[in-house]
Amino acid sequence: MNASRGVGEFDLIERLAARLEPLESGLGIGDDAAAWSPEPGRLVVATTDMLVEGIHFRLEWTTARDLGWKALAVNLSDLAAMGARPGRALVSIALLPGQADLAEQLYDGIAELARITGTRVVGGDTVRTPGPLVVNVALVGEADPERLLRRGGARPGDLLFVSGTVGASAAGLALLVAGDSAVLARPEAVPLLAAHHRPWPQLALGAALAGAGVRCAIDISDGVASEAWHLARASGVEIEVDLDRLPLSGEAVALLGSARARQLALTGGEDYQLLFTVPEAMLAAVEAALPPDVRLSVIGRVTAAREGGAVRFFEAGAPIDIPEAGYVAF
Ligand SMILES: [Mg+2]
Repeated sequence: MNASRGVGEFDLIERLAARLEPLESGLGIGDDAAAWSPEPGRLVVATTDMLVEGIHFRLEWTTARDLGWKALAVNLSDLAAMGARPGRALVSIALLPGQADLAEQLYDGIAELARITGTRVVGGDTVRTPGPLVVNVALVGEADPERLLRRGGARPGDLLFVSGTVGASAAGLALLVAGDSAVLARPEAVPLLAAHHRPWPQLALGAALAGAGVRCAIDISDGVASEAWHLARASGVEIEVDLDRLPLSGEAVALLGSARARQLALTGGEDYQLLFTVPEAMLAAVEAALPPDVRLSVIGRVTAAREGGAVRFFEAGAPIDIPEAGYVAF
C-alpha cells in the first residue's frame, strides 16, 4: 500500500492500517515499500501500485505501451527509494470486453522496462470489468538488511538533495489538460510528455546511495513539498527547503513560466526522482558512488530535531507558505 498519495488517501490508509494486527518484525505501512527478513542476512522489499483510467491516466493521452511502462516504473521507483533491487512482479488488469489488443500493447511496455531493469513478471490476474481500465502491479525485490533507505533516517545537520530535475512530468500533464495543439507541438513539449508517460525509476541511484551509507530517501510521486513533509514527519525533524535551488525543468519554465514550473515541481508530482538527506561527513562517499549522468542538487538542510516534523520553505532568504498537499488520488 503506497502511503504517499495526498492527504485524503493518507488519512484513509491510517484508518485501514488501524484495523490490522501490528507487525512483530519488519516494516509495514508507512515507508515506500514493506520489508521483512525471511532469513538472517536477507531483506525482502515489496510494494504495489494501482493505476485507474480516468483517475491516473486517460487513454486519449497515453499509448497502452507507455501505460504498461509507467505501471511498472512507479513500483520500481518505490524499490529505488528503499535502495532495493527488483525482483519479480505480478500484474493484474481489469479490462473491458474487446480490449485484448490493448492488453498486449500494455504488456509490451511492461516487458520493455522489465527487460531493462532485470525485473521478471511471474504472474497476475486478468478480469473483465464494466468500468474503467485498471492496472495493478505488485513488485517484490531485495535489499541489504544493513543498507536500507528509510523515510525516517534524516538527522539534524544533514543536507537535503534531489536528483535530476523536478516538475517535468506535471508540466507534461498540464500541457495535455490544456490541450493546446500548438503548444503540444513545440519541441520543448517532447521531454515533458516523455517524463509524464515514461518515468525513469532511479534504481541505480537508490542502490548507490544505500551502498554509500545514506539512510534516508523517498521517491517523488506527489511533489517535493509533500515528500519533504513525509521525511520530516517520519524522521521527527525540521527541514528547510530553499526554493531558489529547486532544479526546475528548463522546458517547463520555457513553456509555462518559472512560477508555474516551480508550483508544479512542489505540488505536481510524478517525477519519480529521489529526495534524500546526507550527513556532510558522507558527501565524498556519495559523490564517489554516484552512477554516471546523475545530477544532484542540494535544496535544503535538516535544521533540528522536532517532534511531529516540520518543513519550512524559503525564497530569496525569506520564509514562504507552500501548501503541503500534492496530487490527491481521490
Ligand atoms: Mg513512494
